[in-house]
Amino acid sequence: MDFSFTGEQQALAEKVRAFAGDTVARHAALDDRERTFWSGFFAELGRAGLTGLAIAEEYGGSGLGAVEAGIAVEQLARAEATACYPVVNATLIGGIISRSGTVRQRAEWLPAVAAGDAVVALVLTEPGHGTDAAAIELSAQKDGDGWILSGTKTSIMLGMHATHGLVFARTSDDGARGVTAFYLPLNRDGIARERLDDLGVRAGGRATLYFAGVRASDDEIVGGVGEGFGGVMRGFDHSRALIAVLAISNAQAALDDALAYARERESFGQVLGKHQGVAFPLVEHATRLHAARLLAFEALWRADNGLDHRTEANMAKWWACRVGVEAAHQALLTLGHRGWNDDHPAGRRVRDAIGQEIADGTENATKLVVARKLLGRDCAP
Ligand SMILES: Cc1cc2nc3c(=O)[nH]c(=O)nc-3n(C[C@H](O)[C@H](O)[C@H](O)COP(=O)(O)OP(=O)(O)OC[C@H]3O[C@@H](n4cnc5c(N)ncnc54)[C@H](O)[C@@H]3O)c2cc1C
Repeated sequence: MDFSFTGEQQALAEKVRAFAGDTVARHAALDDRERTFWSGFFAELGRAGLTGLAIAEEYGGSGLGAVEAGIAVEQLARAEATACYPVVNATLIGGIISRSGTVRQRAEWLPAVAAGDAVVALVLTEPGHGTDAAAIELSAQKDGDGWILSGTKTSIMLGMHATHGLVFARTSDDGARGVTAFYLPLNRDGIARERLDDLGVRAGGRATLYFAGVRASDDEIVGGVGEGFGGVMRGFDHSRALIAVLAISNAQAALDDALAYARERESFGQVLGKHQGVAFPLVEHATRLHAARLLAFEALWRADNGLDHRTEANMAKWWACRVGVEAAHQALLTLGHRGWNDDHPAGRRVRDAIGQEIADGTENATKLVVARKLLGRDCAP
């Protein structure tokens, strides 16, 4: 058993760490305050190769694996958790198009995603349907040789920034088998967007999207009519492990700040770290983050090795997000009044951590997947 990264993986980590430290970190506080990314952010992500990590080289990507995507997300999240969402989305949606798209769709769409020219959003959740995503209602009605989409989507990460969306629509009443995925430009006539006023992950521009008689063609269907739901669920096996890495890294950055503070700040004549009541909780959170990180990377490693990784990815998602919130909270408390201020990243780390608990499926949604595996469908909730 080998827990170390290869030389190439180590080099990738160092490259992304340098990019994140130099370019991303200095914008993080302002991005959060202004609720948007700095101008040029998406182009820089593309130039750094971060939106094309998992896309094949023939389409302009690097053709790397799930572990490499995890390595990139881990390094980016240390600087700014929200900056990871375009990378996660490009990996998730690029993966769905790579697996399920036609030759023409792959050739036409993937190079723009890899280059960062197309900023992509996963357009699934609706005001009435989140966890029960198979019940979505936004309708796609056949109209001549095309389709007409009508309805509302909400909670769409990057919704205010995205140029394109993978939009899930109902094409028949047949439950999950009646859901079809369309890859559409989001500036198309009939689409309106409204920003949500979020508690965290603020630069992400989460939004509600209104579809009023939006025209789509057969050529924009990914994976066939009625095949949309299975495709996104397979994609979640991978993206949930990436969100886990994101959550752990965000919390680890907060914990590192707290550890540094505990080495310097004095109380009762000695540094904080000398007080067992300060040191031991930090040790406990470091231990949990370490273990959750191993689980998340195991899920990504299994994906790269063609092994079933659904259980590990879903276990990692809920647990990493839970321990991430708890660690970020403790980090803020260790900083005392200094953490309770927007000039310090501790508060942003906590707010962003809570968002990760909901994004890509809540704790209960992931536990449902694991319960069905452990207990069998007939005996699980
Ligand atoms: C930061 C962030 C980013 C997001 N990004 C996107 C995105 O890019 N695209 C997108 O489409 N959506 C996105 N979402 C939406 C997210 O996927 C949904 O919020 C999530 O799936 C939960 O759906 P819901 O909010 O409607 O909660 P509901 O489904 O209404 O659930 C409410 C509560 O009940 C629990 N619950 C529901 N059903 C069950 C059950 N059967 N058993 C036990 N508990 C249950 C849930 O766990 C939750 O705690 C994002 C959300 C956030 C916060």
